[in-house]
Amino acid sequence: MMYTQCSRCGANLDPGEICDCEKTLKQKVESHIGKPIPQEEWEECESYARRKLNFQNKLFNKNNGEDYLVLLAADVYHEQQMSKATINFMQTMKEVDELCKGQCV
Ligand SMILES: [Zn+2]
Repeated sequence: MMYTQCSRCGANLDPGEICDCEKTLKQKVESHIGKPIPQEEWEECESYARRKLNFQNKLFNKNNGEDYLVLLAADVYHEQQMSKATINFMQTMKEVDELCKGQCV
């Protein structure tokens, strides 16, 4: 197996791999969930995840940092997607109802 070394932190990397120390928070979260996050969704996700981190650190007297923030942001992203899907579903059901004017079973 061939390795290269990160020039910043010295970690062993696969050829072509970006070291975690070079990744932005967004890139780390994207690696964690396995897909890209659109920028406009990311901004909302990041600020909410940071609020959650600060809140939990205060509440439990912890000092969780960026590794934990990655997990929180991934959770927040999934919650956002679920919430959007639910709103879209409810909107569709409302439109169906209006089309049927209450006559559909
Ligand atoms: Zn590194």
